[in-house]
Amino acid sequence: PYTGPTADEIFKKRKQFLSPSMFYFYKKPLNIVHGKMQYLFDESGRRYLDAFGGIATVSCGHCHPEVVEAIVNQTNKLQHSTILYFNHAIADFAEALASKLPADLKVVFFTNSGTEANELAMMMARLYTGSHDVISLRNAYHGNAAGTMGATAQCNWKFNVVQSGVHHALNPDPYRGIFGSDGKTYAKDVQDLIQFSTSGQVAAFISEAIQGVGGIVELAPDYLSSVYSSIKEAGGLCIADEVQAGFGRTGSHFWGFENHGVVPDIVTMAKGIGNGIPLGAVVTTPKIAEVLTRRNYFNTFGGNPVCTAAGHAVLRVIEKEKLQENAHAVGSYLKEHLTALKDKHEIIGDVRGRGLMLGVELVTDRQQKTPAKVEILHLMDQIKDMGVLIGKGGFYGNVFRITPPLCFTREDADFLVDVLDSAMSKI
Ligand code: PMP
Repeated sequence: PYTGPTADEIFKKRKQFLSPSMFYFYKKPLNIVHGKMQYLFDESGRRYLDAFGGIATVSCGHCHPEVVEAIVNQTNKLQHSTILYFNHAIADFAEALASKLPADLKVVFFTNSGTEANELAMMMARLYTGSHDVISLRNAYHGNAAGTMGATAQCNWKFNVVQSGVHHALNPDPYRGIFGSDGKTYAKDVQDLIQFSTSGQVAAFISEAIQGVGGIVELAPDYLSSVYSSIKEAGGLCIADEVQAGFGRTGSHFWGFENHGVVPDIVTMAKGIGNGIPLGAVVTTPKIAEVLTRRNYFNTFGGNPVCTAAGHAVLRVIEKEKLQENAHAVGSYLKEHLTALKDKHEIIGDVRGRGLMLGVELVTDRQQKTPAKVEILHLMDQIKDMGVLIGKGGFYGNVFRITPPLCFTREDADFLVDVLDSAMSKI
């Protein structure tokens, strides 16, 4: 049993020694001391079904034995910087990762986070094209350093000192967007931005395949393919941010962008790539990758032996345990059952997403789509008390985000739906 500091004791230390910007879930925050596959355990030994760990990096399952073994083995042999010397771990993982990507996307640069990956992708696009303007989508999240905070397009994640050269296009959001599911019409806005806000030449377009932080927003059909051609015409590169949607999460495909039938010029990834280990990557073509040789460029720890050994194990586990297929099967089943809840509970405005990246948007008025901001907080606490951890997001903070580890089962899905049903019945 756990004998360490309690949640209350940790809270006191956090208040004194940690940045006040760090946020947490629940009125009475949880002290999580142990994880096993789709379960998390608190200080009292209580078990929770984790329906959100996927977004926060866990793809294979908490402390997956094969991933742990790879980390421990490599740590016992060597942990060092990526620069200066050769080590096989980074090269082996780069080869394995490149084999998962289509076309000429074969060159990998490792980072420690999604923010770093997107910063690098945007810089490479600017170097390659000689243009500065980038277009991203309103409601997007791409990171919180200078460039990526500019690409992020929600005021609650931005400080107003960032000057970024990023233009924000209308979000092709089928639920709240002004053109409904008409992807081609939203795509026209990108044309307008190119024509009226830039010189006509742009560096890049960057977007998630399904917006995660933005509240599990799927892009309207036919949007991406249309935008990708406009960007190409304007001399720009297309960047796919796969930090959340990648690594089999959407079920039908390994990468989120594949759901849209497009091939990006640059793909960025993080979170699920390392099953909890800090790791990110930028994958691009040999021609684009060349731009970094114009100067010295390095990342001390990006792709270090321990992290890449972990990443390689993650790929093996996803394949061996058919986790993408599981995300497809269990995700479709779960979505069906969540959609059925909508008939029963007026508070559910929309159910959406793919695979094990699902969202349930809560509203107090279905006609007006009034965000149920207070109700969702109450429900989150209730659901936690019944033993399930779920995420939330969206601009108004009124969307449940369901992104469990990919080993989630049908029984887990049934339990989650029962708990949601029960909590909503009491509201
Ligand atoms: N892109 C997306 C789509 C994300 O969701 C996030 C993190 N929420 C990031 C980039 C930034 O990743 P990190 O927090 O690892 O810097």
